[in-house]
Amino acid sequence: MICGSMFSGKTEELIRRLKRAIYAKQRVEIFKPLVDQRYDEEKVVSHDDNEIQSTPIKAATDILLLSHNIEVVGVDEAQFFNEDLVEVCNHLANRGTRVVVAGLDMDYLGAPFGPIPKLMATAEYVTKVHAICVKCGALANHSHRITQEETLVVVGEKEAYEPLCRRCFSALYPPVLNPKDVSKSKCDNTDVK
Ligand SMILES: [Zn+2]
Repeated sequence: MICGSMFSGKTEELIRRLKRAIYAKQRVEIFKPLVDQRYDEEKVVSHDDNEIQSTPIKAATDILLLSHNIEVVGVDEAQFFNEDLVEVCNHLANRGTRVVVAGLDMDYLGAPFGPIPKLMATAEYVTKVHAICVKCGALANHSHRITQEETLVVVGEKEAYEPLCRRCFSALYPPVLNPKDVSKSKCDNTDVK
């Protein structure tokens, strides 16, 4: 699992790992959701134009149909698939296929994104990569939306988002819980043993 905010180099890291598998003459297949048509329909393209051939698919379950005899399965933009992806990846891994998945860990509001939390929980290895905060230069883990559109899938990319660190992001979106609420919920938990 490779995850992080936008501009954090997830796709570059995915491509790096998959190219090494290709150099090792392993049979590799890369999938991405059909929703992501930013650049080339048949290629996983990172922001620095490093690219690799991929297959756009509508549903996570399509991966099972298309990965017979494949040794390494790559998935990019995994956050746009539904939770079926978790079962699909674990099924493949259980039968001995190496699965490398890249995706956004949080949406633009800072909430865990789609199947990513469960993939992180069930993966053997998790790499979190970071962008650089455009406001202060610290490590960024948030993708702050700078357009007004409200759907989760905005495919506009660079113009629509900017990477922010926790501090700069939370200055814009103050946490919903205040410390009082947190300590109250802790007390409630200790009652239920
Ligand atoms: Zn910052």
